[in-house]
Amino acid sequence: TIDEVSKIRTEYLSPALLTYYKKPIMVVEGKMQYVWDETGRRYLDLFGGIVTISVGHCHPKVTKAAIDQLNKLNHTTTIYLNPVVAQFGKELAEKMPGNLKVTYFVNSGSEANDLAMLMARLHTGHMDILALRNAYHGMSQGTHGLTALHTWKYPQMPAIGIHHVLNPDMYRGPFADETPERASERYAWDVKNLIEHSTSGGVAAFIAETIQGVGGTNVPPPGYLKKVYETVRSHGGVCIADEVQTGFGRCGTHYWGFETQGVIPDIITMAKGIGNGAPLAAVTTTPEIAASLKKRIHFNTYGGNPVSAAMGRAVLQVIDEEKLQERCLHLGKKLKDGMIKLQEKHQIIGQVRGEGLMLGLELVKDRAAKTPAPQETAQVFEMLKDMGILIGKGGLYGNVFRIKPPMCISDEDADFLLYGLDKCFSEL
Ligand code: PMP
Repeated sequence: TIDEVSKIRTEYLSPALLTYYKKPIMVVEGKMQYVWDETGRRYLDLFGGIVTISVGHCHPKVTKAAIDQLNKLNHTTTIYLNPVVAQFGKELAEKMPGNLKVTYFVNSGSEANDLAMLMARLHTGHMDILALRNAYHGMSQGTHGLTALHTWKYPQMPAIGIHHVLNPDMYRGPFADETPERASERYAWDVKNLIEHSTSGGVAAFIAETIQGVGGTNVPPPGYLKKVYETVRSHGGVCIADEVQTGFGRCGTHYWGFETQGVIPDIITMAKGIGNGAPLAAVTTTPEIAASLKKRIHFNTYGGNPVSAAMGRAVLQVIDEEKLQERCLHLGKKLKDGMIKLQEKHQIIGQVRGEGLMLGLELVKDRAAKTPAPQETAQVFEMLKDMGILIGKGGLYGNVFRIKPPMCISDEDADFLLYGLDKCFSEL
């Protein structure tokens, strides 16, 4: 029973585990955009295992790819060649713009960002790495320093050479009231200023999520990344795009999040949606930057194992075959328009933001003062669960709903969420 599992978990698993909901739900089955608990109750899952179920729970094609590969060969490591892993690398390169074509497979987003930092440092010979405040890039020792969410209550983690620049936040940031053009200039200026005053003068890398995920679905003003990339490159650094949440068509208008800002990074890190639940992550870069690891050995036992690679290949195929990027565009617009409409009716909605099916809804007690409303957020979060709708929660003050469902959701699902939000805000 759920009580037994809860007891075992409390006794035998780490107390650091985060559990959603006052009375946690136990999920025992999933099919596309739905999950079921142990009593057979169905939930519409609009958070997809934290933005990881990209094409749907137990998608038949991904499941078949995994089973076929498991029956054939489970594991080799890279000391032997394997056709599935090689083919996956090639197919991933075909989705990349510019000269981004060389991939190193790992198991998690944290590992991918660790490796991206290592490559940037080896390639440039510089040490300093710039990240955005409020960023989330992982929880490994290396990425802990990049992640900058004080609410996670860690003491200062070792972060040698890591600096945090102003987050280009267009709701709460210092330049949020400027025009997007002016704000992007001013936020980008902070990067230039930091490089010139707080580093040795050279910089290894700038890393950013195009749209901050855990931090609350924060979208930078148009032009921001273009300006920052120019500055970073002119100081000898490379630019890393963390596409762990924004990649693979989720932003709707483009396959990659960074394309919404009209830039091409030097290194891309991917995880989560890349494997639809497989422990799979990747770093893709240019042949020149990849060469920084040449004549060295960089090793990873499971990275790019054949089963994960087979699932990754199936995901790429399903996104195209089922036109999921187009679906993100259509349903993202429908949901965003619908939530903006709800904003006219419900004072508690401070801001609706995001691209495609990477959406955020920030709740405030007072619109003018933008006072965060974390208690109300938690309350509506529970009410939605009771209605059978699962979404995510985040932001610096815990007052942002994160709506990042499997990309296979339908118009009816979007309507149900809008109905649910309206009902909950009315009853609040
Ligand atoms: N980058 C981003 C943008 C993320 O959202 C996450 C996970 N929430 C990570 C990196 C780290 O990925 P993982 O948990 O697989 O290490």
